[in-house]
This record gives sequence, C-alpha cells and structure tokens, in this order.
Amino acid sequence: MSRYKDAQCRVCRREGCKLFLKGDRCYTDKCSISRRNYAPGDHGQKRAKLSEYGTQLREKQKTKAYYGVGERQFRKYFEMASNKKGVTGENLLQILESRLDNVVYRLGYGVSRAEARQMVNHGQFEVNGKKVNIPSYLIKVGDVITVREIKKDNSTIKANAEANEKRPVPAWLEKDSKKISGKVIRLAAREDIEIPIEEHLIVELYSK
Ligand code: SF4
Repeated sequence: MSRYKDAQCRVCRREGCKLFLKGDRCYTDKCSISRRNYAPGDHGQKRAKLSEYGTQLREKQKTKAYYGVGERQFRKYFEMASNKKGVTGENLLQILESRLDNVVYRLGYGVSRAEARQMVNHGQFEVNGKKVNIPSYLIKVGDVITVREIKKDNSTIKANAEANEKRPVPAWLEKDSKKISGKVIRLAAREDIEIPIEEHLIVELYSK
C-alpha cells in the first residue's frame, strides 16, 4: 500500500516540481520533491533529454495533474480558450483557475484540489445562494461562494478554515473565514498563477 500512498508524489517527481496534490504534507519537509527530486523508477536519476514534442507533452500533463483535469475536459478548455479574445495560453489558465473546486481550494477550505472537489461533489458549497455540486462549474466576477448553512458544522471544513485562516488568498479572491465564504473580485490573471507552467508549449502541442 505504501506505493499507492506515494502515487501523487510520484506525479510531482515525474514532472520535477511541486504540484501540491497532497495537502499539508506538501508544505513540510516530508514532501518527496524536497527529499528525492528525481523521476520515479529504476532509471529516474538519469533524466533523458526530451524531444520538442516530449517537452510540450510533459507541460500539458503537468498542468492537467496540477488542476486534476482529464484529457477530454482539458481539450474542451483549450477550445474555449482559443475562442476567447486574448492570449490562448493565458485564457486556458484563467479557465482552469475559475473551476469551483480550484476556488474552494484557493480560499483554503480544502487542503488540496482533490479534497475541495470531493467537498463540492458532496454538495457542501453554494454559489450566490444556490447549491452547486459540480466541481467544474466556472465562477464569474461577483460570485459569492459559501459553505451551505446545513454544512457549517462539518468538522473538516471548519478545521480547514481555521488552519488556513492566515494562508494568503490570491488577489482575485476575497475571503471571509468566519462565514466560510469568498467573493470573486476579478478573474485570475497570469501573474496570479505561481506554478511554473510554460503554457505556450501546450498551445504549440494542440496546434500541431
Ligand atoms: Fe507529494 Fe505534495 Fe510534495 Fe507533490 S508537492 S511531492 S504531492 S508532498
């Protein structure tokens, strides 16, 4: 079972950077990237030089893993991003950031995106007073995300809200820890997203 427990850390090690898939552990020195920053497997310590295609593919895989999105949905987001005004790669990241599960995570009410997704799935949050249990729901400017009244005593959400009270939230969100809620001030801009993603490589990959 230990291999299974390590599965998410193996994804980070494969991509060579922290993807914050495991919650609190990611912020401690137990993080596998701090301890063993080389690819998993017998030949992991000898990273092979990637082809142009391989580099583009890895960037896409890294981004999908970071946001916990499957290929079909990711492709759909890419089409949406291409049809929007502006830079396609930046549009893509903005759409990914706008997912409700990501917003719940960014507000600190889930320790990881996976946990935030599960909470949304279980109907623990509402948007503008209406229950939303779709993790891929895309928030808009002005939306207010709140834990539902009947879930306010949920021990996990309360514990997360308390533990993450001081964790900084991105500038595009406003958080009210006491009410376990948050408001979307504006959509995420490129400079708000700290993960080292070279989104132009994803655009190049899908443009082939
Ligand atoms: Fe594991 Fe989190 Fe570190 Fe990734 S960032 S290696 S998931 S502890």
